[in-house]
Amino acid sequence: MSGTSVHLDILPDRPVTARKPPRLQLHERLVPFKGPWHLPWIIERYFWAARSGFTARKLVNASMALAEMKMGRPRVRSRPFLLRIEPTNVCNLKCPLCLCGTGEDPRPKGMISIDDYKRIFEDTKQWAMITRLDGLGEPTIHPKIWELIRIAKSYGTSVVMHTNFNTPNCAHPEPILDSGIDRIVISVDGASQETHGRYRIGGDLETVLTRLRNLVNERKLL
Ligand code: SF4
Repeated sequence: MSGTSVHLDILPDRPVTARKPPRLQLHERLVPFKGPWHLPWIIERYFWAARSGFTARKLVNASMALAEMKMGRPRVRSRPFLLRIEPTNVCNLKCPLCLCGTGEDPRPKGMISIDDYKRIFEDTKQWAMITRLDGLGEPTIHPKIWELIRIAKSYGTSVVMHTNFNTPNCAHPEPILDSGIDRIVISVDGASQETHGRYRIGGDLETVLTRLRNLVNERKLL
């Protein structure tokens, strides 16, 4: 589990009035964001987590995909190197800028089946390096979320997941760490319940922070 990283963004409790731009972290200074096709940014954001899934063929394909993306080619020769899979489009929160949270997502609610999920990897296993397991919906609501992550890892991709960390499936750190997830991004939208709850409507900040501390402590024991 050495590859797991926990990423936490805490927004200020009050509106920011300072004129000075926030101090960038070292990796943000070294690799400034210049668009989603920018190779160093992709490497910083995803490939470092994906290094467990590197093969020469996958790297050549990913480089070609990024080049074709930058050139704006209408027809491409490369294959998908990053999979974005939504385990479910159900959520327990009601964030006001999310179609899932506001109930405006017109699709029927559902959970991906293990068979459909495996089929995606069977079709892409020669090329896929990274799996992002989120979309509209909270991925940890899926009852087999940790198994889904293990399956993605077994096909040689790294796994990145964004979560509100407010569902019963996130209550214990062991299944999270045992899943082999490479990067988990936990949504914290304020330094107090008042500010956090203004966007994460229905979310409990103390629950998130307690679980986060437990996760970090448990990981240190590994
Ligand atoms: S937690 Fe995520 S999926 Fe759920 S409503 Fe908020 S933004 Fe949407």
